[in-house]
This record gives sequence, C-alpha cells and structure tokens, in this order.
Amino acid sequence: MTLLDHLARAVAATPDKPAVHATRAENGTVRTLSYAELDRLSSEAACGLRRLGVTPGKVVSFQLPNWWEFTVLHLACLKAAAVSNPLMTIFRERELRFMLGHARSRVLITASSFRGHDHRALAHAVRDAVPTLAHVRIAGAAGTEGFDSLLGATDGADRRPDSDDVIQLLYTSGTTGEPKGVMHTSNTMLSNLVPFAARLGLGAGDVIHMPSPLAHQLGFMYGVVLPVMLGATSVLQDVFAPDTMAAQIRETGATFTMGATPFLNDLAEHVGGSGAGTSTLCVFVSAGAPIPPALVARARAALGCAVISAWGMSENGAVTTTCPDDSEARITGTDGTALDGMEVRIVDARGAALPADSEGRLQVRGCSNFAGYLGRPDLDNTDTEGWFDTGDLARMDAAGYIRICGRSKDIIIRGGENIPVVEVESLIFRHPAVAEVAVVGYPDPRLGERACAVVRLRAGATLDFAGLRAHLEAQRMARHYMPERLPILDELPRTPSGKVQKFRLRALLAEAPVS
Ligand code: ADP
Repeated sequence: MTLLDHLARAVAATPDKPAVHATRAENGTVRTLSYAELDRLSSEAACGLRRLGVTPGKVVSFQLPNWWEFTVLHLACLKAAAVSNPLMTIFRERELRFMLGHARSRVLITASSFRGHDHRALAHAVRDAVPTLAHVRIAGAAGTEGFDSLLGATDGADRRPDSDDVIQLLYTSGTTGEPKGVMHTSNTMLSNLVPFAARLGLGAGDVIHMPSPLAHQLGFMYGVVLPVMLGATSVLQDVFAPDTMAAQIRETGATFTMGATPFLNDLAEHVGGSGAGTSTLCVFVSAGAPIPPALVARARAALGCAVISAWGMSENGAVTTTCPDDSEARITGTDGTALDGMEVRIVDARGAALPADSEGRLQVRGCSNFAGYLGRPDLDNTDTEGWFDTGDLARMDAAGYIRICGRSKDIIIRGGENIPVVEVESLIFRHPAVAEVAVVGYPDPRLGERACAVVRLRAGATLDFAGLRAHLEAQRMARHYMPERLPILDELPRTPSGKVQKFRLRALLAEAPVS
C-alpha cells in the first residue's frame, strides 16, 4: 500500500472530517482542511507540479514551517510520483545550495518569511546557484509565484507510486563532512507506522498534535504520514511555545503528541506551573535526544498522561519505544524495545554480538530501514545481512529493552536538533587565525547539549567570539549550528597517533568552564 490508498479510504469513509488543522503564529490564522479538501487540493497541486515539469522520480523540495501546505505537498508529490524533499526552516544558503544541487531539485516551495527571515530572497539566491532548479513558489504569497498558482485545476493524470519507489529524500546532518540524503519508500515508512500505531493504540479517533518541525523525520512521519494513514486529525503548530501548545491541545482535544525532550520539559513545566490542564492528552512520545529519567517521571505527573520514550533515526523512524503498560523502571529508565518488523542488537568493535546488559554499538535490522543514501552507497553502514550500524552506543537487557548511553559518531544534539560537527569544524578552520579546531558538546539543562569550539590559534593571531560569529555568518551557515563558546587553548589534547581527544576536552569543559 501507499499513503494514497489510506487517503482514499479516509475520503470515502469520512469526507467531512478535519484532516489537517494548522495555525500560523505570525497572524493567528487557522486553516482546517477536511479529508475531501485535502484530496482535492493535493490533486490540484499534483497537476500544478506537472505544469512546472515535475515528472515521475523528480525531486520537489519544500522548506516550509508546519503549515497545511506541507501535508498537501507530500500527497501531491505522491500523486505526481515525485519525491518529497522536506527541508528544515533553519537551513540557510550554504546548506540549501548543497542539498538542492545534490538532489537536482526542479521546484522549491518556501515561505515568504518565517521567524523574521526572508525565505523568498533565500530561495531566489538558491535558484540562481542551482542549475536544475527551475521554479520557486511561495506559500502565503499571491500572484504567479504564490503557492496558490499551483492550485485550481486538475488534469486526471494522478498516478500511484509503486510501494517500493523512493517517495522521500531527507538530508540528515553529516558525520562525514556533508549532509547525507536518506531515501525512504512507502514500504519503509508504513512498515514502521503500522506497528507504532498498534503498540500505542492509535486509530482514526485520535487527534495528533505536532509541535516538532515536519521537515524532521519525526515531524514528517508522525505529523504528516501517520494521521493520514489512520484517517485521524493532525494539529500542526508552526512556532513552538508551551502555552500555545497547551491551548491548542485543549481547543482541539488532542490525544497524542511527540517531540524531543525540550518540548516535553517545557510543556510539563507550563502545565505544572499554570494548572491549565491538557486532559485529553493520552500519550506524549519523546524521541530524538537522550531522555533523563527524572524528566519522564516529572512530566507524567504534570501532564497526567503516558510518557513514552523512543529511539530512532531519520534512516529508520522510531525503532524502539516503551509500552504504555511497562513497569515504572522501564518507562523512566529505558528507550524501549523494538517494534514488530525490526530487530536490535548490541555488538563490540569487531561486530560480534554482546551478551545482555553490556554496552556496545547499537545495530538495527528490518523493514523500516531506509533505501540508502542518494548517490552515496559508500556511506551506508548496512552490512550484507541487513544490520545497520547506528553510531549510537547502548545497552540491552535480557528482555530486549535498550538504553542509549552515548555516541560513537561525532554529532552534537542541541534540543533534538543535530549539529554536524565535522562540517562546522571545516568552516571554522577556514579562518586565517585558526591553527586547529575541535567542536565538542557541553551539557545544558534544557537543551541537553550546546556546541563549543575549542581553538588553537596561529602564532601571533587573535580571534574573539564576535570574530568567529562574523566568519561563520559570512559563510551563510545555519545559525543553529553556531558554537556558543570559544575557549582558546595553547594545545589540544591528543592521542599518541595525533587524534584530538574530544572526551578530554569535554571533561575539561565540564570541570572548569572556560568562556
Ligand atoms: P531525527 O530526525 O529523529 O532527529 P536524526 O537522524 O536527526 O533523527 O537523529 C538521530 C539520532 O538522535 C540518533 O542516532 C541518536 O543519537 C539520537 N537519539 C534519538 N533518540 C534518542 C534517544 N531516545 N536517546 C538518546 N539519543 C537519541
């Protein structure tokens, strides 16, 4: 099956039911689309994309906040047999030029502005730099460049992709110096969502609130695809603020939500503090970053709902989750057990499986593992037996419950958002004053981690934080990747073979906070 089969079923059963309920924080407008409207608008947008020369297999990029156009576009891409390429709104020219160039995108759909940034100007700069990019369309704008110019007509040429066709291309922060284009098919996505919904008891009656960006795999799979698969209602929040989230949950009767730890932390604090209940909410799934046991306990008490921890990646969706009727110890202290269709195991450095309760590399295998990295099969850590090496370190108990205890890959997770360390280091290294640089994470109570650039300067050179910032801004790097501290050392700690010992830098930062 593909999502279009689920859409057709929902349209036939409940044409007037709200499918998408989306708010724009900038002007407070709300747009609700019924299943019949979602079907019509996505057929019109598919026709509009075809008018722009989008043929089957072509990539359509969209850098959009959590707006209704997002869900319409994904369904339109399916109907045009094209590939959806969601892009985070935090990406700037450097990231977009790479991604759209690499994907050979034909169309870019964006906002005119979002959170004070001029996305129209950004899209035009990217169009001028990417040869395949023929068209830009702007959500919320009028005229020929407006998103609405894609709508208004159908041509009866809608298709249905094969369930093994690539339908989504999502760039994930590189550990290798450049972003990797993760490819998914209808089968790899739906084979995750079916057991996920079954385990958590989700169905057409649910109202799914999504505060996480839809351009993350978390937001995309559980905020765009899951609601349509279930014939449920999605509630999209474009700018996260805990008071607005609580109000939206109350107003829409939301029953389910999902986000990284800061969302859980902030909502629990707000509801606990204000006493304003979110009584319809049954489940909050936390995933994407380490989940402290004390937070799970506190949030359950504050929200009065099940708090489910999950582990997953863009490459395979939520692979493990806890179960609503698990013991207290498992709910607060583990990242859960594999969903049906997926296996997990812990191996040593040589790839040999380890006994229960030992720490090692986490590997996963099964039907929701991705279809490879676009153009870079060499980067795919899936072995010939189908085991994908995740780059995370974990322990697994005898019953199959895992706990993430670290990472072997070099990324920093700041509030659920990954920072590609190798990319940022190479940008900093371009500064003439820098002889050596290592970007490492340091703990933060709310965001989990923040990034710090530890630098050794060239003899006689100087660099301050403002200088580093200006240097990185000039390279049009996403602001979110910006390191927040800049200690200068005379020497970086090294192994005898010359490798920078990041664990020693982290310990140094934790012990003696340097500015
Ligand atoms: P997403 O789009 O869901 O954020 P990414 O592929 O960007 O996924 O990031 C995946 C990484 O996030 C994992 O490899 C892991 O390092 C981290 N992560 C996800 N879930 C957890 C968890 N429950 N505990 C600790 N780290 C996690």
